[in-house]
Formats: sequence, structure tokens, C-alpha cells
Amino acid sequence: MDLPVLAIIVPCLNEEECISSTTERLLEILCDLENKKEISSNSFVLYIDDGSKDCTWNLIEQYNHKTNGKVKGISFSRNFGNQKAILAGLFEALNYNADCFISIDADLQQDETKIPEFIRKFKNGAQIVAGIRKDRNTDGFFKKYTALAFYKVMNILGVKIKLNHSDYRLVSRQVVEALKNFPETNLFLRGIFNELGFTNDFVHFDVKAREKGKTKYTPVSLLSFAISGITSFSIVPLRIVTFIGFMMSFVSFILGLSAFIDKLIRHTTVPGWATIVAAIGFISGVQILCMGIIAEYLGQLFQEVKSRPRYIIKKKID
Ligand code: UDP
Ligand code: MG
Repeated sequence: MDLPVLAIIVPCLNEEECISSTTERLLEILCDLENKKEISSNSFVLYIDDGSKDCTWNLIEQYNHKTNGKVKGISFSRNFGNQKAILAGLFEALNYNADCFISIDADLQQDETKIPEFIRKFKNGAQIVAGIRKDRNTDGFFKKYTALAFYKVMNILGVKIKLNHSDYRLVSRQVVEALKNFPETNLFLRGIFNELGFTNDFVHFDVKAREKGKTKYTPVSLLSFAISGITSFSIVPLRIVTFIGFMMSFVSFILGLSAFIDKLIRHTTVPGWATIVAAIGFISGVQILCMGIIAEYLGQLFQEVKSRPRYIIKKKID
């Protein structure tokens, strides 16, 4: 069998501090695997510049010249988000005849020395090899616990994603071809790859602290990532809304009935308007929450129905 062509897909947003060291390190790994005859010498690194405002793109261009195209790049017209950048990288790498694709962050927080292990599992027949982080010690308190809660909620809602699943993963050409048939705008890759089936395997890795640059995520963007992850994969929250609505009407009906009977038989009136006000406040809160959940899905539908392009490529270098 011919040696597989490996494409390393690296999304980046304002990563000028990281590009040089990351490129050197990834080229070193490619070179090593090529010398050991594990992968084809046509393997390459593909950067997706997700609308950076710093020198990221210039650095990618410099490396492209220096390496005679072993480092390739595509540049988005603006920031479309990390998930779209990974997706564009996968689709673009198809054109360079890649057989397997590994996505990794530009800060190399994910342990790059595990790349040979991904390749080994691919050669043993796995079409999707997912990177699972061993712990979350390098995350702050907020990120650690919200991420854990997110995976728990996803599992309760029926989306079976392994705990601490990451976007550090290897996929085969066949998987990327299959992914092309998923036209949705709102992408939650960890969920979609789960949905595709195929032979799965896992590689466990440690997350290092970020050495250069800063995280590109804020608590707000992480929350919106989590909400769209849930609403693009599960309709259970909508069912919960229906159930709450039903239970509330049922309980109110019983309460109404008992008040009516009280009035008829015992001629008692209830003092305590405070209780009523509290009950109204509570019920209004629940109603607004339910409407919010429905609005989340409506928002998803709104975005999908417009079916706008998921990303726009401004420039390519190969
Ligand atoms: N990233 C991107 N677009 C974005 C946000 C992030 O391409 O809108 C890239 C970023 O450059 C990095 C990866 O996605 O390569 C993960 O981002 P980061 O390291 O900031 O996230 P963290 O590790 O803090 O979760
Ligand atoms: Mg990072």
C-alpha cells in the first residue's frame, strides 16, 4: 500500500507569537514520520487564518515560500470561528490528495508528540481517532467546571460525546467526504463526527499551558459555543418545556378547582396576597425561560434556513 498523505490542519486567529515555533515543531514531526516511512513525503501543514488582524498571515506566507509549499494556507475574509476554520481546512486538504487529516490548535497546547500514535491507530483501521484530554488542570476554575457540566448535560440529553473530547483528532478521507453531505451552518464538530459512525478509536493526551499569546475565547463565546452545541444536536430541552407547560396547567387547574370548592362549601377567602405575587413571579420566570429555550431553536432554524456560506476564502497559497 502507498504511504498515506497526512494533512495537519491548524486554525489560527491572531497567533503571530505561535506560528514560528509551531511550524518548526510540526515540520520536525512530519520529517521524522516521513523518514520512518510512516507517511508520504507529500504530507503538509495547512493553516487557516480565521480573520487575524496581526502578522499571522504574513508569517504563513513566509513559511510557504521557505518550505516550497509544504506549509500551505488559506485566509478567511473575516473571523468565522474555529469550527468553520477546521471544516474549511479539511475540505481544502481534500484537494491536495490527503488521506488522513489531523486538526490541532496553533498554540500546540495539545500534545503534538501524540501525532505518531494517531497515525498508528489510523493504520490499524480507525477512520476517526479522537483526542481525549486526560485532565483539565491547565484550565481555570470557571472553564474546568462549565466544560464538565456541558459534557454531562449533553450526555443526559442523549448526545453521546465522550467526556473531555477535543478537536484534536484524526479523520480519514472517507470521513471528510461524508462530512461534505452535512450542509448545516451551525457546526459542532465533536457532535457531528460522533453522528457519522465509522470505526472509532481514541488517543489520550495531556494539555500543556499556553506558552505564547492569549486564549481567543471569552466566557461569553464559550457559553454561546455550548448553547449552539446543545441546540444543534438535541430537541430534549423543547420536550422539557412542553412537559413543564403541561404540569403547570395541570397544577393550576387543581388549585383553581380547590379554591372554587372552598368558596362554595367553606366560604373562606385566602388572605396572603404575598404568596400569590410570589407564585405569579415564579411562573412568569418559568414562562420566560421556556420562551428563551424555544427562541434558541428558532434562532438555529433562522440561521439554517438562510443557508449562507459557512465561510468565505479570501486567499489561498499552496
Ligand atoms: N481560533 C480560531 N478562531 C476563533 C478562535 C480561535 O481559529 O475564532 C483558533 C486559535 O487560534 C487556536 C484554536 O482555535 O489555534 C484554539 O483557540 P485557543 O487556544 O484560544 O482556545 P483555548 O485553548 O483557550 O480553548
Ligand atoms: Mg489553546
